[in-house]
Amino acid sequence: MILHAYIDETGDRGQSGKPKTSPIFGMAAVIVSDAAAARLRAVIRHLRETFRVPDGTVMSWKNHLKTHHRRQYAANSLAAVEGVTIVYVYCQKDRVSGSYVYNTERFYNYVAKMTYTNVMWAARGLDAEGIHTRFGHVRGHDHLPTKEYLQREARLDRRVPHDLERGLRWVSADRYLESQAADLYGGFLKAALWPGEFGLVEPQYIRTIWHQVRRGDEGCPVPLGFMSMPSNELARALPWNPCDCSVCNSIRVVGSPQGPIH
Ligand SMILES: [Zn+2]
Repeated sequence: MILHAYIDETGDRGQSGKPKTSPIFGMAAVIVSDAAAARLRAVIRHLRETFRVPDGTVMSWKNHLKTHHRRQYAANSLAAVEGVTIVYVYCQKDRVSGSYVYNTERFYNYVAKMTYTNVMWAARGLDAEGIHTRFGHVRGHDHLPTKEYLQREARLDRRVPHDLERGLRWVSADRYLESQAADLYGGFLKAALWPGEFGLVEPQYIRTIWHQVRRGDEGCPVPLGFMSMPSNELARALPWNPCDCSVCNSIRVVGSPQGPIH
């Protein structure tokens, strides 16, 4: 079986604390077989029609899913697609310091590397013979050095099954309907982590699709399917994290604020 991964980012790479920057920067990877991709595309077409997205316009969380009802409807629709595996990676920016936050390219590359690694492991876990990995194109970012960096890092790390890769590319958002799905899954992550008015978050969407998030040991998605940086404890400690494993339970009870990494 050959798989396909579509990866989109959420949040921006701007320095923590600066005006208009996001508190998190993360990526959502949607992993599907050919058959699951067809089901996913059908749902994206349905959502585009339902939300009246004009032909030739890319449906996005930012422009077309501004209301709770649309967000929940999209989450319900995507949650029902069989054979979808989601891998999330995010960084809580106020917990890191040093060159990662000052060098946006390095920051992007690091988050992309962790996402890529987890996607490769997910592909192996799904018994794939190969995987095509497509990152969303980011304006103003030169992807060639990132591609070389990811391939070099994957080759150096013997634990990463880089031989599964069948094509690592950066594609624009209008090329594949599946990239629009990745954008919406990224939106679910953002809504759950980025406080809006009154400091409230909306974890209900990510919880709706939570069964699609890749599980590791003990059925826990942290960190293989749901990775927080700089430490796994951030994800485990989230008050809405539904994982009932012993590690998440212990962290949620104790709480474990982490210092910045340098
Ligand atoms: Zn857990």
